Amino acid sequence: MIGRIHSLETFGTVDGPGIRFILFMQGCALKCQYCHNRDTWSLGDGKEMTLEEVLAEIEPYLPYYRSSGGGLTVSGGEPTLQAAFVRELFREVKQRWDLHTTLDSNGFNEVAKLEELMNVTDLVLLDIKHINNEKHIALTGVPNARTLDTARWLSEHGKKMWIRHVFVPTINDNEEDLLELGRFIGTLQGVEKFEILPYHQMGVYKWEQLGEKYPLEGIPSPTAEEVERAYALIEKGRGQTSV
Ligand code: SF4
Repeated sequence: MIGRIHSLETFGTVDGPGIRFILFMQGCALKCQYCHNRDTWSLGDGKEMTLEEVLAEIEPYLPYYRSSGGGLTVSGGEPTLQAAFVRELFREVKQRWDLHTTLDSNGFNEVAKLEELMNVTDLVLLDIKHINNEKHIALTGVPNARTLDTARWLSEHGKKMWIRHVFVPTINDNEEDLLELGRFIGTLQGVEKFEILPYHQMGVYKWEQLGEKYPLEGIPSPTAEEVERAYALIEKGRGQTSV
């Protein structure tokens, strides 16, 4: 089985628990204005790798993943666009090494069709880009309904998730939107963690290399106070709906 791979990282520490092997898959159906992996969008790019080739990259580092409570995270791009490959990879690392598996997803693929993949996924990192549908469309090019459906499905099927939210001044810092995001999260079971990822400009050069204009030019990263305010509003919203 062959996957189209953008890149890999052997010592990831933020995309799931412990030290992790991070596999970045090629291809994404969204067009986030802040995307810091602009070069992952095209499904035709990247490098073809077999399942065995990926497994051989993971194997030398297994002691680090095991001793730190880490494992394998598959990210992107959007990993569910190559769901069959990721499912087989997760199956193999579980069978061979009993490794913890994490899927880093935007939730846009229809989750009901991904049940087999979810059966071998221990944790989902689900990115909710915007709780307001109109603003989600403006930010990513697609509606947010499928992502919210994915969150509900994970909740109803007893899955563990971390919800993540890239926080961008002027784009998703509106008080009511943050409260609403919190209210939505409050209705979910299985949310082990909620994280705000402060917007940064580290991927701008990739847009420039592709000859594209960066859509959020001039928008600064949020200050620590702005991030704190966003956390507080989301927590307040969460408290209004959680049981
Ligand atoms: S979902 Fe991720 S990879 Fe896809 S466009 Fe958005 S930020 Fe980029």
